[in-house]
Amino acid sequence: MKLCRFDDDRLGVVEGEFVSDVTEALRALPPVSSWILPLSDPCIAHLAELRAAIGALKSPKRLPLSSVRLRSPVASPGKIIGVGANYNLHISEINADPVVLPGMVSDDTVRSGGTLFFKARSALAGPGDGVKLRFLERRNDHEIELAMVIGKTADRVPESDALDYVAGYAVFLDMTLRGPEIQAQRKSIDSYAVLGPWLTTADEIANPDALDLRLSVNGEPRQSGNTRDQIRSQRNIVSYASQFFTLYPGDVIFTGTPAGIGPVKPGDIIRASIAGLGEMTVAVGKA
Ligand code: MN
Repeated sequence: MKLCRFDDDRLGVVEGEFVSDVTEALRALPPVSSWILPLSDPCIAHLAELRAAIGALKSPKRLPLSSVRLRSPVASPGKIIGVGANYNLHISEINADPVVLPGMVSDDTVRSGGTLFFKARSALAGPGDGVKLRFLERRNDHEIELAMVIGKTADRVPESDALDYVAGYAVFLDMTLRGPEIQAQRKSIDSYAVLGPWLTTADEIANPDALDLRLSVNGEPRQSGNTRDQIRSQRNIVSYASQFFTLYPGDVIFTGTPAGIGPVKPGDIIRASIAGLGEMTVAVGKA
């Protein structure tokens, strides 16, 4: 199933060029009764009930996909976790780029140490929201990445079971301001975490470790890669992250970018696609 959030927080199911408005199915979610908000996203935590309720809806309204504004398919992730330096060719390009991280990514960091970091939740956007650049005098780069959305609470899970904890996959743009500040700060600018175009549930993706990724800017190809070239596989990432912190339903993990990162400026149009997960079109503006 391809689940989207669109317009004014409507819930949709994408089928081809159409989206069915299944917002009514949200009644299947338990009411929020506590003043303590959960660490998980309610839709993802109750995805099975939600899918059953969607299936029970009689003739939901269908709209052309092109007529809706796509938002982040996960509305309230507890955490947005990044995996740095997960493709060898990308490590080579950043080590060779004086503006990026001169010499900072050593083989030791990548192979024996961890490269996990966080983006602030307030950075989250959907393709229809666009990216609003700040610090226009500096380099703002695109990074296309495969995103996993956690479906079940995962605390120190083994690699062998790790994919059972994934609810689905989506395309992610890890927008990145280059400069001296630490990663979490430069990558947490509002709108610098674009998730979309929708959530494709895990049952539709036979092997997340063999997906083509492609990104173009104004029609010019920039990034092209395949998740089989990742240093850490999806199951390794979930297992590894869960050794440090419990993963909750709705947590988003973006899994590293292939080579070909480059700058964007206001007025650019980014197209980012991953095989089986769809393509998202993201307009670049300024804040
Ligand atoms: Mn990245």
